[in-house]
Amino acid sequence: MIKLHDKYFKPFISAKEIDRALQRLVDEIAEDVGDEIPVFVGILNGSFMLTSDFVKKYPNTCEVTFIKLASYEGVKSSEDIQRLIGLTQDLTDRTVIILEDIIDTGNTLHEVYRIFKNEKVKSLKIATLFYKPEAYKKDFKLHYVGIEIPDKFIVGYGLDYDGLGRNLPEVYQIKETQHMTNLVLFGPPGAGKGTQAEFLKEKYNLVHISTGDVFRYNMKNETALGMLAKSYIEKGGLVPDQVTIDMLNAEVEKNADANGFIFDGFPRTNAQADALDKLMDSKDSQINAMIALEVDDEVLVNRLLERGKTSGRKDDADETVIRNRIKVYYDETAILKDFYAGQDKYFGVDGVGSIENITVRLSSVIDNL
Ligand code: AMP
Repeated sequence: MIKLHDKYFKPFISAKEIDRALQRLVDEIAEDVGDEIPVFVGILNGSFMLTSDFVKKYPNTCEVTFIKLASYEGVKSSEDIQRLIGLTQDLTDRTVIILEDIIDTGNTLHEVYRIFKNEKVKSLKIATLFYKPEAYKKDFKLHYVGIEIPDKFIVGYGLDYDGLGRNLPEVYQIKETQHMTNLVLFGPPGAGKGTQAEFLKEKYNLVHISTGDVFRYNMKNETALGMLAKSYIEKGGLVPDQVTIDMLNAEVEKNADANGFIFDGFPRTNAQADALDKLMDSKDSQINAMIALEVDDEVLVNRLLERGKTSGRKDDADETVIRNRIKVYYDETAILKDFYAGQDKYFGVDGVGSIENITVRLSSVIDNL
């Protein structure tokens, strides 16, 4: 991953792939042009690297020239194309091949055609290394296309983001979400995850998602999801994975602009941990850490019974249900420690002490990430 100005980009097309695409373009064009001496016209600034590599590969005699147009402002394709350097030589009766780094909306191409309208060239053909079919809004034929790409902003190999990135030998794509901090707050029922999440979400400006809270909200409002979850929750067992995963995905989607998330009560099984990795991956992001609050069982039982006196939670009122929840945690959930430890992302924190002290312990882990 790289950062240019304020934005993060991920590797997208390697130098090798670019080289292969370029060779294909050269082969096709050389074959079509035959014995003629073509004039290759690079469109500055973006095409400088492409034009240089292209003509080095071109097997026959050729001429090279440039025109300079300015089209991009930031990461959006601007409608307004400025002509900074026009044609400086007579191209009457010549075979002209435009070398473009990228064609997206086609606005630059429109300007190119305007430039050539009164030139009496023999033929005018368009070659582009990258092409975004979803963004292309014009009817001009593209004679030679290197690599078709999705409509996402890219940098590198001549292409820039506000001046930076042109020198990169490979191409990077903008990250779906920019920099996120995603934490899994882990620990048995009663460890204090919910209490601590309330402080941490304010301090680090993160969105707190507690699957238990979402289930309880749905139960209270008697939604279909709530009805489904109720029987499992009241016995202290786990709600089925697919139901929980779908619900979590929806909660994350609701907060598409978040700086990051505190996941509380999720994941609780391997299937959920895999699903969470996939979800983070789809956002070009990842879980940064699993932070576990470590508390002895007897302390947990007492805390939960105490909470049950005021929380109104049925699963806090009955010691058998509480002990079952703790057992489910050790049987089904605690293994996730290995899952995250294997990725060097597991951090255990002593969960016994004052609320403030525990917040300080958690914060020091987060600050060191
Ligand atoms: P909690 O508030 O985290 O203690 O969750 C209360 C109850 O909701 C749990 O005992 C489970 O029945 C259910 N639940 C919460 N999160 C999950 C999850 N990730 N997977 C399955 N069930 C869950």
